[in-house]
Amino acid sequence: MRILMIGPPGAGKGTQGALIAAHFGVRRIVVGDLLRDHVARGTDLGRAVRGHLGRGELVPDEIILDIVRQALTAARASGGGYVFDGVPRTMTQARAAYKIAVERGMSADVAVHLRADDNELIRRLLARAALEHRTDDTAAVIRHRLELYHQVTQPIVAWYAQRGILVSVDAMRPAGEVSREILAELELMRPLADRIPARMGRPADTTGLGVQFGQA
Ligand code: ADP
Repeated sequence: MRILMIGPPGAGKGTQGALIAAHFGVRRIVVGDLLRDHVARGTDLGRAVRGHLGRGELVPDEIILDIVRQALTAARASGGGYVFDGVPRTMTQARAAYKIAVERGMSADVAVHLRADDNELIRRLLARAALEHRTDDTAAVIRHRLELYHQVTQPIVAWYAQRGILVSVDAMRPAGEVSREILAELELMRPLADRIPARMGRPADTTGLGVQFGQA
């Protein structure tokens, strides 16, 4: 299975993504962790993105797409499946990552969308801030990350719905209930994903933006 996790910060992409990856025995790619690791090690890439992370700003698309290329190569070496947590976050990333994946015959079978309202997300992220010490889990930066999610990430969900690969789940419930629903839905889609080679799936519109959704 090749799966994308999409949802606002605090919705549980990490928790659910880990369970899904374990269930299907596929590689999990957590873009935020990869970026934080670069920052911690002080690599060139880490120095380039540290400011963006601290402010809750998005890292430039080219950096993310390089990570996507490397991650797909690694996923291919470990069987071809993946759970991607954190990409795409912009429509540009969505279209470019789709092209990169299609070239490799590795486009996603499913996009799992986690829905939760902002008050609950803020509550969870502030609770996490008390436990972990992420520089971006402060009230002001959390609000900014949520705004960015609504403005630039949320619109991508419609694109996956149009491709017929969207599974959208209410993530306000306890994690166990959420994961049971996701795994049940993914099990229903698994036979299809196994039978249809990625490059024969319904092609996506890679030309324009939201207004063209209905025309592909
Ligand atoms: P969350 O989902 O809680 O915001 P992540 O760990 O996924 O946490 O992301 C943390 C930060 O890493 C983001 O605020 C952003 O700065 C950067 N980042 C992660 N993924 C992307 C992406 N696809 N595009 C741009 N920036 C990203």
